[in-house]
Amino acid sequence: MMFYVIGWVAVGAYAGRVAGAKGRNPVRWLLLGAFFGPLATMAACFMPPALAAQKANPAPARRICPHCSNELSPTARMCRWCKRLV
Ligand SMILES: [Zn+2]
Repeated sequence: MMFYVIGWVAVGAYAGRVAGAKGRNPVRWLLLGAFFGPLATMAACFMPPALAAQKANPAPARRICPHCSNELSPTARMCRWCKRLV
């Protein structure tokens, strides 16, 4: 019986860890895992990552000045190299 309880808690902790790695609330999923055991762990494994986690590393936008081919900052309206509008 004790072994069964330890295994149940371990499964819950695993659900929390998987959810945390996917940008979800690990405490909430740890509780879900403690209540639902393997079911919550399976849900944590199969659910897609949270949107916030997907947007954590957006590709940096690079812009090139059409006049002098130097690199511009993404929000620049005037090239800082040749001082022309871009
Ligand atoms: Zn330029």
